[in-house]
Amino acid sequence: MQELHDAPLAPLTTFRLGGPATRLITATTDAEVVDAVREADAAGTPLLIVGGGSNLVIGDQGFAGTALRIATQGFSLDGTRLELAAGEVWTDAVARTVEAGLAGIECLAGIPGSAGATPIQNVGAYGQEVSSTITEVVAYDRAAGETVVIPNAECAFSYRHSRFKAEPDRYVVLRVRFELEDAGGLSAPIKYPETARTLGVEAGDRVPAATARETVLKLRAGKGMVLDPEDHDTWSAGSFFTNPILTEPEFAAFHARVAERLGPDAKAPAFPAGEGLTKTSAAWLIDKAGFTKGYGTGPARISTKHTLALTNRGEATTEDLLTLAREVVAGVHEAFGVTLVNEPVTVGVRL
Ligand SMILES: Cc1cc2nc3c(=O)[nH]c(=O)nc-3n(C[C@H](O)[C@H](O)[C@H](O)COP(=O)(O)OP(=O)(O)OC[C@H]3O[C@@H](n4cnc5c(N)ncnc54)[C@H](O)[C@@H]3O)c2cc1C
Repeated sequence: MQELHDAPLAPLTTFRLGGPATRLITATTDAEVVDAVREADAAGTPLLIVGGGSNLVIGDQGFAGTALRIATQGFSLDGTRLELAAGEVWTDAVARTVEAGLAGIECLAGIPGSAGATPIQNVGAYGQEVSSTITEVVAYDRAAGETVVIPNAECAFSYRHSRFKAEPDRYVVLRVRFELEDAGGLSAPIKYPETARTLGVEAGDRVPAATARETVLKLRAGKGMVLDPEDHDTWSAGSFFTNPILTEPEFAAFHARVAERLGPDAKAPAFPAGEGLTKTSAAWLIDKAGFTKGYGTGPARISTKHTLALTNRGEATTEDLLTLAREVVAGVHEAFGVTLVNEPVTVGVRL
């Protein structure tokens, strides 16, 4: 276990933003994680769990408390059963399951961060979400003061959300268990239209799992969604906003605003999102509200490759980033009456 004081947090985040933590502990075993959490809780010290820092917006003033970086390791595959320690690098774990010929998470390749963070916002991309393959999450329950095993059905997974995100100060994920599929080296059925188109197959078809993974990685790289330290378009948290989910009356009002602003033939993206609910595209809203790729003149700008990613061009502060984010939220609201919600977790700041 390593301990530092007044430790900068910016280098631990993909935005490279945020001030220092009073104390930074790096834990390499589950026991160290639990000990550090127990100690902070007993002392009443605020605690911030840090995985890969790819979904964190930390305030410029930093974090007054203990930041606990989870650096545990453990990849265990037993047939189709996979168990990952929370600190495992997610995209590397995906690659290993594909090499083992298994299906289920191949389209989640290239998502930065740790395995332990994947249940937090039910990580998803290109037609897959971890909620489809997670069987159990092993977590330290800070309220009960003990380690618990939470089955999938009790994780309250939904679009970019879960029980863990709903109760951010309660669970520290130690291990995540998955049930993958042995489809003889083939992928799970390809669901995402763009992936199917690129692969030249129909939605629902299977392709070699390795091909699915490589295709997703290529598509992601083209959008600045694979980390590359040389490319400021990836100094981000990926999508900065979630796709809005609208009720029927909200969607009707939105539809009217779209027609008013863009003409009667304009059609906003609309996907069924459960009983009476429609999901629309945050990227589309941002673009149509006038915030196109590369928008901005300051040190925080919209990615040149994807309207949904806000980025640090190198010299930004968290305040610069938030100013841009607030401008986008206000602009989209004014244009379409829809309020965008940030996807990354904010620490010590609010949008
Ligand atoms: C370029 C880029 C592309 C991205 N693409 C996607 C995408 O396609 N789909 C997607 O869903 N996300 C995407 N993201 C967001 C991000 O990668 C995921 O949310 C990822 O799961 C975050 O993991 P992390 O380890 O970096 O978490 P962190 O950023 O370190 O933490 C995020 C939150 O989880 C909490 N947390 C972390 N680890 C634990 C733990 N073990 N126990 C309890 N709480 C914990 C933290 O306290 C914090 O609240 C992208 C980000 C980037 C930078």
